[in-house]
Parts: sequence; C-alpha cells; structure tokens
Amino acid sequence: MRAAVLFGPDDLRVVDKPVPAPAAGEVLVKVAMCGTCGTDLKLQTHPFPNQPPFGQFTPGHEWTGTVAALGETVDELAIGDRVAIEAHRGCGRCDNCVLGMYTACLNYGNVAKGHRASGMSVDGGFAEFALHHVSSLYRLPDNLTWEDAVLVTTAGTSLYGLDAIGGYVAGQSVAIVGPGPVGLMTTQACKALGADPVVLLGTRRSRLELGQRLGADCTIDVRSEDPVVAVRRITHGLGADVVIEASGAMSAPQQAVEMVKRGGKILFLGFYPAPVTFDLSAAIRDDVTLYTTRGEGAGAVRRALSLAAQGRIRGRELVTHRFGLEQIQEAFRVVREREGDPIKVVIVP
Ligand SMILES: [Zn+2]
Ligand SMILES: [Zn+2]
Repeated sequence: MRAAVLFGPDDLRVVDKPVPAPAAGEVLVKVAMCGTCGTDLKLQTHPFPNQPPFGQFTPGHEWTGTVAALGETVDELAIGDRVAIEAHRGCGRCDNCVLGMYTACLNYGNVAKGHRASGMSVDGGFAEFALHHVSSLYRLPDNLTWEDAVLVTTAGTSLYGLDAIGGYVAGQSVAIVGPGPVGLMTTQACKALGADPVVLLGTRRSRLELGQRLGADCTIDVRSEDPVVAVRRITHGLGADVVIEASGAMSAPQQAVEMVKRGGKILFLGFYPAPVTFDLSAAIRDDVTLYTTRGEGAGAVRRALSLAAQGRIRGRELVTHRFGLEQIQEAFRVVREREGDPIKVVIVP
C-alpha cells in the first residue's frame, strides 16, 4: 500500500509499505479520508515520547473508512461496514481506563500493555489502510459523510470536556474562545445541549461567519472589540457561566478568568506553545472552577456520532481543503502557512 512515513523531523514522504494484518481484536480499515491537525505538525517537528521511530511511523489520527478485514474474535463489525474512529484506545486494565478515562491511560504509549493512540503511538491513517482496535471503531450512520466522520473525534473532544464540567449547560451562557475545529464543534455541541447564549470569539472573520452559520448566537471579532468587555456586555455585566478556551493563545487564559461569571467554570481544551501566566488568585477569589480534559473519552465519540446523525452537529462544513495522499507535503504546507484560511484540511488516499 501507499503510506506517508516520517523519515526525520519535518520529513514526511509517501512510500510503499506492506498492508498490516489485523491481530486478535483488531480491524483493518481501507482509509477513505484522514484529517490533518495541529498535533500532526507538532509530532513531525518534535516527536512525542511514545512515537514509533523515524523511517517507520505513519501519522494521522482523524481517519475514517471501510472495514476490509477482521482479526480473530471480532464479530461487532462486518467487512464493508463504514466506520468512524476515535484515536485513543486505552489499555483497558489501568484504573483510569476502567473508569472510561482512557485518554489519561496510565499505560499511555505502552503498546505491549494494549494502549494505542492511532497516528501518535502506533501507525495511523495517512495511508491506504490502517489498523485499529474494535473498541475504538463506530459504525458510521448512513446519512453521515466521510467529512462528518473525520470531525467526530473533534466533536468527541467537545463533549468529553462538557461532560467534565457537569454537562447540563441548558440555559447557561457559554463563551467559546477560538473558532478552530474544536471551537466550532464545541459551539454546535453547546447549542445542541441548550446553552443560551453561545458566544464565539476569534480573530478570523471567515471562521466567525461559519460559527454563526453553525449556530453561535453571537460572534465577537476580538480585533475590533475587547473580548472581556464584549462577553460582559452580552451577559449583562455578569460574565459567562462557562468559558471554554479552545484557542491555545497565550493571552486567552487571563481573558477567560476576566470574562467568566463569579462562581462560574472555565474549561481548557487548547494546548499552549509555552507555559502560560494568568491571575490564578482572581479565579480563586471569584470561586471559579477550572477544568481540563484531554481529547475524547468515556463514550463521547459515540454521543457525537449520534448528535451528528440527528443533524445537531455538522462536521462536513469545516472541511475546506482536500488533497490526495501523494500531495500530503503540499497539504501540510497549506496547514502550516494557513494558505486560503484552511479550517480542516483532509487527505483522501
Ligand atoms: Zn487532531
Ligand atoms: Zn489504561
């Protein structure tokens, strides 16, 4: 098969590789589409601790496709089924995995103990075929497209975070900072769960407009209005019940503390390029609760798929660019240089 392989820092090449054979509990999937994301840029430049070695590793953790072969004991799916995936498969034996917190698996990266993070600690989906454990695959509802499936892990990230903060956001004001894929899927999830109003803040007009089309009650261009002032204005001076930080901007944590209501909640979903500084004492003084979650977990992807099938969250509108596998370097150039304001760039092997 053809597969992208990382040969060294920022040296991703498409080469021939044997089609992997599914072990017991595994499924071989013919990849239909694989999304690119900021994590892919990071792990190409600075390999993650549990990443397979240069010359072997195929990244790609947002993939979807059709079941091509089943390993021993797999009877949950059939050849020809369309499936969505979630990247993480926990070891299933540590304390956290038993509780469904498999993105915080205590055996993270330990393949021998059963953990795998597709496209991070084992080979992923920038290839014609990919393997995954059956527990991380979901039959794709007929009315969903490959594009919807690619975004479902991202939507799972939103729902897992909302789960952590208590989930019941109906009637609550939510300010979402950062209209990237996570922010845009979170906007839709909050609307689907009844939050009111949902305010989306960002710097890029095209993304804010998409956020509006996807259900944000109001959008704030933070280049023309101070984000804290805007959120306080919209919430009648009180601040938002919930602030969801999905931008990863260094200034965002401080703004989150300033725009949240006294007694409110801040959920951090973004990753930052360096250690951040913000006024933690202000959060303590105002009885603000801070939450973090990593990726998707605890059945969040299954719920995201259901919301998507019901038409309550839409993934396909986030896909702005498509490239063939042989054009993967060009695809990452577009992602890196943000050429044409890409939101989700996908590879179609
Ligand atoms: Zn990702
Ligand atoms: Zn585990």
